[in-house]
Amino acid sequence: MSEHLLHFIPETLSYVPDAEQQQAAEQYLSEWMAADDIMHQADPDIIFWSGSENFRYPLCPVCRKPVSGTWWGAQMNAIFAVTGEERISAALAPRNTPCCGAPAVIPDMDYDETGGLACYGLTVRYNNSFIVCMDNGRDEIISRVSECLGTPVRLVWEWI
Ligand SMILES: [Zn+2]
Repeated sequence: MSEHLLHFIPETLSYVPDAEQQQAAEQYLSEWMAADDIMHQADPDIIFWSGSENFRYPLCPVCRKPVSGTWWGAQMNAIFAVTGEERISAALAPRNTPCCGAPAVIPDMDYDETGGLACYGLTVRYNNSFIVCMDNGRDEIISRVSECLGTPVRLVWEWI
């Protein structure tokens, strides 16, 4: 069976909201889904939040071309070869894109909401009524979730 998930991840790699903040976000989102469909995951090592079937390689910040999978995969391998603080530093180190040599920070590249990196993610298994509300009031929902979690967030839409 296919699954549709939406991950809200902090813009700051190492940020993990406290239990109260996680609870507040969960309570807000429970307007649309059951508690079972709202999940939290945190790890001291950065997690790669993949859109799975929906994932696509990010765009170069300068020429806006998608970078090659080979190049992106090699950068990700280098980042994930280390753990903890070292992984955060590796992720934040600018890397020159293969197309035009522009400095790119892997987690800040434009994945069009199909992938991202962060130590924490709030995941919802979404339903149609949530999507209808996202279509009509996306900014409001994102800003409320950000407010609860105490951080600006990025979105990753995952299709399994
Ligand atoms: Zn480029």
